[in-house]
Amino acid sequence: MKIQTKFIIIVAKVINSPAMGGLEQNDLSAKGGTLQLLDFVAEFSSARQDRVFNNIYMTRNFTCPYCNRPTTITDPNYFEHFVVIKIKESNMGDVGLKIIAITCPNIDCNKLFLKVDLSEAVHEYADVYGVGEILENWRLLPESEARTLPDYIPEAIRKDYYEACRIRDLSSKASATLARRCLQGMIRNYWAIKRERLQDEINDLEDKVDLDTWTSINAVRSVGNIGAHMERDINIIVDVEPGEAQLLIGLIEQLIDDWYVVRENRRKRTEELKNLVFSKEKQKNVSTEND
Ligand SMILES: [Zn+2]
Repeated sequence: MKIQTKFIIIVAKVINSPAMGGLEQNDLSAKGGTLQLLDFVAEFSSARQDRVFNNIYMTRNFTCPYCNRPTTITDPNYFEHFVVIKIKESNMGDVGLKIIAITCPNIDCNKLFLKVDLSEAVHEYADVYGVGEILENWRLLPESEARTLPDYIPEAIRKDYYEACRIRDLSSKASATLARRCLQGMIRNYWAIKRERLQDEINDLEDKVDLDTWTSINAVRSVGNIGAHMERDINIIVDVEPGEAQLLIGLIEQLIDDWYVVRENRRKRTEELKNLVFSKEKQKNVSTEND
């Protein structure tokens, strides 16, 4: 394929991509010919083209928030569309909604990621608007930045974790309260430690966990208000900074990996090993009987 032909195909793909507002094929064929096609492309401001190419690059790498696998997203798994909200006399001026949807290409997952940006709609020509500055954005699916926790983690712990993530930006104190309860639930469930106060339960952990884990717990405990609050009843709602709620959430995620995920992986490996030994012995018995 000649370089020029290749280039035209790429250009045509870009123009027809949702990022370009889904221009119809007729818009191109009406002009006809290679040069006109390139002229047509040149009509777009370079800023607009930058955005288009950025959008295409943006589709390349994606870490699925459901299965946590880093993947490469190609066109069939990516959707983007900008809808201009044509309404009179809004004090926001011309705005539009940019919808971005991605399906995870991992066949064990295939879940839908969905987000919406409310952006300034920048008039370009005729009835065409470009995407301006983002004013608000909402991630619709999955609902929060929470990781999807495996089913073998007790339901009460999963619920508290999801809830803590969901309300983190709305109320950091409610989020931190749930996160502390979640931490207590994990210590009680995984280590079978049960004391009156979370502080005492954490102290009991010191000679049970490795140094890295203990350092992480202590690091979170010594930050801002969290440390003081860990010493009180877990249900007391106290003011914390937004960043502190996230620190607790991060600690929970790390402990889930270090405790539950490691234990489950070890259990699976042992199970596989047992099955292997069992099938080998069965084979041996069959061959002895046949002798
Ligand atoms: Zn996935």
